[in-house]
Parts: sequence; C-alpha cells; structure tokens
Amino acid sequence: MPEEAPPEAKKTKKVRGTVVINLARCKGCGFCIAFCPPQVLEFAEDYNPQGYHPPRLTDPDGCTGCDLCGLYCPDFAIYGIMLKNGAPPSAAREKSDES
Ligand code: SF4
Ligand code: SF4
Repeated sequence: MPEEAPPEAKKTKKVRGTVVINLARCKGCGFCIAFCPPQVLEFAEDYNPQGYHPPRLTDPDGCTGCDLCGLYCPDFAIYGIMLKNGAPPSAAREKSDES
C-alpha cells in the first residue's frame, strides 16, 4: 500500500510578491489599481511631487508579484516582484530604498 504524503507536503505553496513604486514618476492614472487581479492596490492619500495620488499596497500578503501593474503602467512607475523566501531580490530592494 503506497504511503500518503505528510500533510505539509500537500499544501500548495502561496506565491508572495510585492511592488516597487517610483512615486515621483506616477501620474495617478489608476491603471495599476484597475488591473491588479487580487485588487491589493489603492490610491494613497498623499500627493507625489507632481500633485498626483500614487498607488499604495493595501494588503502586502495578497500581492503575488505578477507584475500586471507594471505592464499596464504607462510611466514605468511601478512593477511587481516575486519574493523568494520572503525577501525581494537585492536589486529591487536597493531601488525601493531610493524612492
Ligand atoms: S504585482 Fe500583481 S498582485 Fe501585486 S500589486 Fe501588481 S498587479 Fe497586483
Ligand atoms: S499605472 Fe503607473 S502612473 Fe498610473 S497610477 Fe499606477 S503607478 Fe501611477
């Protein structure tokens, strides 16, 4: 009789991600918010230097890092990254520190 896999092996691994936002580039069009599949973006209350409301992540655990926000952003102001062991790649970390 075949052995059953332990319960933890049956769990599907949840894909985790985050976004890197260049606040100064954002023009507040909202495309990233509209096209985010899990709907984890909204407009921030604060204004950026250009006078627009940039997006902000409302549910960091819900972001998959799919980068659809990045694909739809006409101003290259946002992109999604998948997290490896809960941490972004070092290049993305440095970029997010700049903004
Ligand atoms: S990376 Fe994907 S899930 Fe995360 S905010 Fe962008 S569109 Fe939404
Ligand atoms: S799609 Fe780009 S420019 Fe438009 S609100 Fe999102 S980050 Fe800003």
